[in-house]
Amino acid sequence: MAKILCVLYPDPEGGYPPSYARDDIPVITHYANGQTVPNPKGPLGFKPGELVGCVSGELGLRPYLEKNGHELIVTSDKDAPDSVFEQHLPDAEIVISQPFWPAYLTKERIAKAKKLKLALTAGIGSDHVDLEAAAQAGVTVAEVTGSNSISVAEHVVMMVLSLVRNYLPSHEIAVKGGWNIADCVQRSYDVEGMHFGAIAAGRIGLAVLRRLKPFGLHLHYTDPHRLSPDIEKELDLMFHPDVESLIKVVDIVNLQMPLYPSTEHFFNDAMFAKMKRGAYLINTARGKLVERDAVVRALKSGHLGGYAGDVWFPQPAPADHPWRTMPWNGMTPHISGTSLSAQTRYAAGTLEILENYFEGTPMREEYLIVDGGKLAGTGASSYKLT
Ligand code: NDP
Repeated sequence: MAKILCVLYPDPEGGYPPSYARDDIPVITHYANGQTVPNPKGPLGFKPGELVGCVSGELGLRPYLEKNGHELIVTSDKDAPDSVFEQHLPDAEIVISQPFWPAYLTKERIAKAKKLKLALTAGIGSDHVDLEAAAQAGVTVAEVTGSNSISVAEHVVMMVLSLVRNYLPSHEIAVKGGWNIADCVQRSYDVEGMHFGAIAAGRIGLAVLRRLKPFGLHLHYTDPHRLSPDIEKELDLMFHPDVESLIKVVDIVNLQMPLYPSTEHFFNDAMFAKMKRGAYLINTARGKLVERDAVVRALKSGHLGGYAGDVWFPQPAPADHPWRTMPWNGMTPHISGTSLSAQTRYAAGTLEILENYFEGTPMREEYLIVDGGKLAGTGASSYKLT
């Protein structure tokens, strides 16, 4: 019998929903790269479209785990030294966590987790796990690659439009009973004809580029690996060999690369200074890629025209985090990858990975981040240990 310790975000403040806004969600079978969506033997312990990412939703895992004699602990209490997470960690064989409400598996916590074999991210992005320490301790790290890439890409498109068109302040004026059109439009532009730059054109970065193409933007990107000539031609996409060459010519930047030790604080004062005045920055990758106070300074000075994203550090962000109140921000809590549609896929992927683990069958290569003491699968191309 294994103990599975699962950390999920808290239930809605009004309680677990008795019903939903829609009756169903579209059935998706494949991602853009041909990869099939999660396909556990099941049955799933939930109906697709239900809220399973929060504590009461339990990712729908309880029926499967209890039928097989395992113990499931689900909590949102994860940070304090006497948290439920810390109490159960020493006996846990599997830890499941989410980027939205991450149970940080630091080196110290991994040292305490003597029985830990699998750290499973229900979603994408395993930077809340010290991957080096996990590799050294022989812990396998896996995530549900692909499960929410389009969910995030759609969110980025929404943020591009809402920043450039000054949507959020204009909505506020409407809500408050106002009608001052000049206040709304004094910062409102069309995106058509602007230059858009992707820093990283992986699954999400490329999906954003594809979705923005019909808006008539000029598209640019930089990435350690160049895309195929076919894709560059299809999107009329200009490749830049480095970030500096890209950021000085574009009006909107989408930061979409993974966080690992050497990409921490990648965007700092020096980087902002190289951007065009009035440029916008979108970051749904990770909060720590951007130096917290440098963004605030760039917005206050007017050098940055707007900043939007859903990723912070730490998470949850403290109530006085300056990104909540800095000017021209379009911040949300970390929600882009946890729409109800995304939850259905990452919960099914979590079940698929657990079935593999308990049945001793191989996990999909694309789900592996660390295995056998080193980066593996998707981890070998998307992450670095230093
Ligand atoms: P991918 O692995 O598909 O793409 C990441 C891309 O980043 C790869 O093309 C990689 O290049 C490139 N890259 C790596 N290092 C650099 C660098 N130093 N400069 C420029 N590009 C770099 O990942 P996804 O697109 O699926 O996800 C990207 C990130 O988005 C995740 O790591 C995660 O942090 C975040 N994310 C956020 C979510 C949310 O809810 N907000 C949900 C899902 C993911 P190459 O492989 O060619 O070396």
